[in-house]
Amino acid sequence: MQIKDTSARPATGGLTRDSIAALASQLQGQIVLPDDADYPEARLTHLASVAAPAMIVRATSAADVAATIGFARERDLEMVVRGGGHSIAGYSIIEGGVVLDLSALKTLEFDTETRIAQLGAGLLWGEVAATLHPHGLGLSSGDNATVGVGGLATGGGIGWFVRKHGLTIDRIRSIEVVTADGQVITASASEHPDLFWAIRGGGGNFGVATSFEVELHPAGMVYGGAIFYDASEAATVLPAFARYATAAPDELTAMGLVLAAPPAPFIPPEMRGKPVVGLALVYCGDFDEGNRVVDPLRKLGTPIADIVGPMPYPAIFQFTEDASPLNLSLHARSVMVDTLDDALINALLASGATDMPSAGALVQLRILGGAMRGGDPESAAFAQRGKSALALAATYGYAEADTERHVAWTERLYEAMRPFGTGAYAGFLMRDEEARINEVYPPATLARLRQVKRRYDPTNFFHHNLNIEPAAE
Ligand SMILES: Cc1cc2nc3c(=O)[nH]c(=O)nc-3n(C[C@H](O)[C@H](O)[C@H](O)COP(=O)(O)OP(=O)(O)OC[C@H]3O[C@@H](n4cnc5c(N)ncnc54)[C@H](O)[C@@H]3O)c2cc1C
Repeated sequence: MQIKDTSARPATGGLTRDSIAALASQLQGQIVLPDDADYPEARLTHLASVAAPAMIVRATSAADVAATIGFARERDLEMVVRGGGHSIAGYSIIEGGVVLDLSALKTLEFDTETRIAQLGAGLLWGEVAATLHPHGLGLSSGDNATVGVGGLATGGGIGWFVRKHGLTIDRIRSIEVVTADGQVITASASEHPDLFWAIRGGGGNFGVATSFEVELHPAGMVYGGAIFYDASEAATVLPAFARYATAAPDELTAMGLVLAAPPAPFIPPEMRGKPVVGLALVYCGDFDEGNRVVDPLRKLGTPIADIVGPMPYPAIFQFTEDASPLNLSLHARSVMVDTLDDALINALLASGATDMPSAGALVQLRILGGAMRGGDPESAAFAQRGKSALALAATYGYAEADTERHVAWTERLYEAMRPFGTGAYAGFLMRDEEARINEVYPPATLARLRQVKRRYDPTNFFHHNLNIEPAAE
């Protein structure tokens, strides 16, 4: 850290050589300033962005988090929280303010007998899976290895085990939270239960979660992978898949995809890069039974590739590697639906779902239900348990000059899915969709969230998020 006098910059008033030095003396972690060699990398998030924060604080403890919050509040500085940096709304990057970077909070302690684990908020889900897998354990999280624990575990957590083991938030026993006034408290069913309810679904509105105590579940080898069909079979394969996967045992969590065939050895050379249907899945249970359950999905047409079989759970993340890097152009739209009927799939196909602008485009039909539906609706602020599917269209990794046609394709598909939507997932909303907060939370949930907000963050210090205060509507 080179301390530079930035007192002349109005956007960062109060950020002076002396004030930064005073904060540095309180921290165990590091401060990264614009002149530092690692600043260009430290400010990167998943979303391509050129925002230039005035400072990045790499917290290494709850005390560092509290000191940074106090520092920002005293100086009226805008502060964002960054875990894995995967917010598609860009909530973890800011121009001219403070980034509270939690990525050094990597504690992962677990007991193989009790299956209780303590997860630092800065871990990535791929790191969690890789550490726990050799012990035959894991945690229901997302579909991508580089998504952060903090953002996903406060937003919901819809992943490869959602139908068998529920949402990530359902497996949290307690959360260490640093509140807006710098207190370090524990939120659980018995301590600060209002906060425990709100922060599991209400995201970063209430404080900074520094660690999560969670209940693990078996996640060693799974029967998983993907089956691919030519895109010309989409109109028969996808509706049949959706019906079958919705009615399948909870051990099966699957998503139907329209994507460009990966340039992988298992795809016939002439099909690589061409639009295909992919049925990506995890069956967590007996392999023979998994084979029996998955088998009908191999007979929905003429598969061009079938790579479903026993695999280590973390290997499933290979299917989403393309969307993992930081600094990625991205445009995504999604809806949650009560029932995934053929009409939605037909509307997507009629709108050009298989006519993608490039290999960085996909449609996802995530089949939900099972344990996600079974979770107690009063236990957490997540209000979409009853949904049977999530439909998403996304384009990513395109050059700036190609933005228009990628955005146009995504928007066209969104138009097609929009009439069927009955809800939204906070983690999949972009910045320009904040008005959809009413699709994420019904009025009673939103009112209760606001009550909790006023108790723990009355000045709305934590507002770089899907903000629940009325001003954001
Ligand atoms: C490629 C990709 C794949 C995804 N796949 C899935 C998926 O399969 N399932 C799913 O459920 N979601 C998925 N998501 C959405 C993801 O859950 C959210 O984007 C989530 O917010 C990312 O967490 P993060 O820590 O990486 O985010 P960051 O960008 O680091 O943080 C985003 C915001 O979350 C809040 N936040 C983060 N950490 C904390 C914390 N410790 N305490 C309090 N607030 C915090 C803050 O408001 C912060 O600004 C995906 C996103 C991407 C980009």
